[in-house]
Amino acid sequence: MKVGIVGGGIVGLMSAYFLAKEGVSVTVYDPAPGKYSIHAAGLIEPYRFDRINTTSMIAKMLRFMRRGVTEVRQLNKMWVVELLSSLNKSPPQEAWDLMREMARLSLDTYAQMAEERNDFDYHNDGLLEVYTSEEELEKGEKEEKQSPFSPKFEVTEVPGFAGGIFFPELSRIATEKFVKRITRELTQLKVNFQGMEAQPNLKDYTLNGEKFDVVILANGVWITKSLKLPITAFKGYGAWVKGSSKIKNAFVTVDEGVAVSPLSDHVKITGGFSADYGSEWRTDILSKVTSLVKVEEVMERNMGFRPCSPDGFPIMGRLDNVVVATGACRLGWSYAPAMGYYASELALGKRSTLGYVSRYVDRLRSSE
Ligand SMILES: Cc1cc2nc3c(=O)[nH]c(=O)nc-3n(C[C@H](O)[C@H](O)[C@H](O)COP(=O)(O)OP(=O)(O)OC[C@H]3O[C@@H](n4cnc5c(N)ncnc54)[C@H](O)[C@@H]3O)c2cc1C
Repeated sequence: MKVGIVGGGIVGLMSAYFLAKEGVSVTVYDPAPGKYSIHAAGLIEPYRFDRINTTSMIAKMLRFMRRGVTEVRQLNKMWVVELLSSLNKSPPQEAWDLMREMARLSLDTYAQMAEERNDFDYHNDGLLEVYTSEEELEKGEKEEKQSPFSPKFEVTEVPGFAGGIFFPELSRIATEKFVKRITRELTQLKVNFQGMEAQPNLKDYTLNGEKFDVVILANGVWITKSLKLPITAFKGYGAWVKGSSKIKNAFVTVDEGVAVSPLSDHVKITGGFSADYGSEWRTDILSKVTSLVKVEEVMERNMGFRPCSPDGFPIMGRLDNVVVATGACRLGWSYAPAMGYYASELALGKRSTLGYVSRYVDRLRSSE
């Protein structure tokens, strides 16, 4: 069996991993594998799932806009329509069941790969959410108590803040090191990398003229060039800095949406959540954590796009011999191992649908 994957971001790479382990011949097309994934904070935090299509999330985005965290420059119209038409509608129970399974599978995959060899700065030391207001902290605590993931968490003191919520079961990694590790493994598994953009023809399953049994579209926000899907881009930024963090665990400032992860040879600072497809650097994330991180030098900075569905759930499914794997928004790394695993199951024909998570793909079939 021959599978061609469009996109070598974290989702495409994990799809290649599970397929190659099954002995499938895999080719990954991407001019720059990993380039648009490595900016991420690398927090493996599937239990911090946010539904996007809720009035409370829209209110949060408006607060972010007032604080300059979020700008709205360009949105996929179909995404807006789907978000508004599903506003405050709860997904079915099976959607949560699948997400819980995906969360566990992803956490376990990173843990297992680190056990084999921890060459990607894997830390299984939890995640702290930092709050400036008591009221928001109380709201956050209440939300966690009602979360369908039933995460373990504890409310803790954080000097200089109203407090924090600590999730002991969450982990984190250095994204660029993980991309190196997985790329090396894929090369050993004889995965073929084509360092170019793919021109997919989804009628005859060819990529740049080469025929495949199955084509996987794992090209993030660019998937809408091939299929009419409600995916929009929320842009964000990552900086690798030399310096020190007052908090030794990874933490997220809830008011500003800035994440900090102190790693072995740098501190990773990420933030920004703008509806924006442009490649310009338009942020000053470092100034938002000056009281918590002492920055000596900025070693590198990068940007990328969160491929967001209207409700935050991934969009995955199979349409004839095309598999779709995208949409996990701000939790792409957290769910990538599970997305790769399920993309491989769909490609191998072990499953034909993932229920609710496949609904937009199933809808394309019925509109054909
Ligand atoms: C600031 C920031 C911080 C984040 N922090 C976290 C975090 O801590 N934890 C977490 O879980 N998630 C995080 N995320 C989200 C996560 O980074 C994304 O969800 C994830 O990178 C999406 O991966 P992807 O493989 O779907 O898409 P991408 O990483 O965008 O990859 C898509 C790839 O497709 C390629 N491509 C596009 N078109 C073509 C074509 N025609 N042919 C070939 N290749 C093509 C592109 O070159 C690209 O490499 C963060 C995001 C941002 C912006």
